[in-house]
Amino acid sequence: MGVTDVLVIGGGLAGWRAAEAAVNAGASVALVANGAGNSPDIHAINVPVREDDSVELFVEDTLKSGRGGCERALVEVLCRESVKLADEFPFDRNPDGSYKLLQPLGCSVPRCVSIDHRIGAWALAKIRRELAGRVEVVKGRATALSFNSQRSTFSFRLGDGDAAGEARSVVMATGGWCGKYDFSDNPPELRGDGIDMAVRLGAATRDMDQVQYEPTVALAPDRLRGIPVITTMLFEGATFHNKDGDEFLADKHANKDEISRAIFAEVEAGRGAGGGVWFDATKVPAELLDSVYIDTVKRYAAAGVDIHREPMLVAPAPHTSLGGLVIDAKCRVLRADGTPIQGLFAAGEVTGGIHGFNRIGGNAGTETLVFGRIAGAGAACLAKGGR
Ligand SMILES: Cc1cc2nc3c(=O)[nH]c(=O)nc-3n(C[C@H](O)[C@H](O)[C@H](O)COP(=O)(O)OP(=O)(O)OC[C@H]3O[C@@H](n4cnc5c(N)ncnc54)[C@H](O)[C@@H]3O)c2cc1C
Repeated sequence: MGVTDVLVIGGGLAGWRAAEAAVNAGASVALVANGAGNSPDIHAINVPVREDDSVELFVEDTLKSGRGGCERALVEVLCRESVKLADEFPFDRNPDGSYKLLQPLGCSVPRCVSIDHRIGAWALAKIRRELAGRVEVVKGRATALSFNSQRSTFSFRLGDGDAAGEARSVVMATGGWCGKYDFSDNPPELRGDGIDMAVRLGAATRDMDQVQYEPTVALAPDRLRGIPVITTMLFEGATFHNKDGDEFLADKHANKDEISRAIFAEVEAGRGAGGGVWFDATKVPAELLDSVYIDTVKRYAAAGVDIHREPMLVAPAPHTSLGGLVIDAKCRVLRADGTPIQGLFAAGEVTGGIHGFNRIGGNAGTETLVFGRIAGAGAACLAKGGR
């Protein structure tokens, strides 16, 4: 690899989206990744497509769920730019032409759109197909990034090796760090490497003590351990029960953090079952289970559990890093004094500030698509001599 215009570190949706934008802007692009990250698991994303929804309501819901921890300017970009996704993606629709929507916890109206229940994998496949042969893909773990001021280029290293390549600008898209925990639904390669590399170049971080727990991650059967069960089932009639069979947390509008706390409280009070609690979908209408939630039905059936009849044993697990690199609305990585590090951009879960202290389900996928594009376009522009 010689000197490329844009180096993207990370092969999730934020990284590939950045690569797409950079290629479209005429830049040469290399992308280095050591896995697929969390993005193939994205089920649905938030886009305000309903008539009674709006950018303003989306902003309001996100700020409210973030519990005072969101950077308003970033939230406004997320919500405003999300609207454009409806022109770009063929989201699933009902026979009457209306969008098929789910209502995530924290959204005041149904807002979650998808494509065949797995928009993450769908979007990744689409982008990779379109960019085939136009992006140099490098497999491996980037371990260091340095800036050569005489050449105005960044060099990166793979593993313990020597410099593996050079680029005029970089998009950091290495995702979060929840892969570090023993019980998590993230793959182990997600260790926060990108944050470490950027900090060594002077980047500021924020909210590094903030991790979102997914309340309903399978504890058993063994083969499903660590796989989350989607919480939108709560709106369709699913309920929580402790080991005595008593229902708790009947509030369908509780947020993910409140649900996780309620589950931990049951376990700590000695009312837990096998370290978790029962999540019971038997009252969810069978036609919904067999359509919207068919992936969960099939996964459990393959492990010998019929969720039409039996509850699922779940516990909260680290799911999303909420903190990360400090960026501005152009995805430029900032130092502690607020100045941008020339040539260094970031997008996706590696950044902090968008979700505050509690992320709405579906907002992360939207974030990768919106901010990945901004970061890639910005990095390409800079590499081509723009500002
Ligand atoms: C099970 C599950 C289900 C989810 N479902 C949803 C959902 O339905 N809707 C939603 O909005 N959000 C969902 N999320 C959250 C969402 O998946 C993530 O926040 C999002 O995918 C992050 O995208 P990303 O591109 O920033 O990072 P990732 O997709 O995690 O990608 C990070 C990339 O960086 C690479 N990488 C990391 N370190 C290095 C290194 N040192 N060198 C080279 N490469 C490196 C990884 O291999 C990977 O390619 C879910 C999360 C999980 C775990």
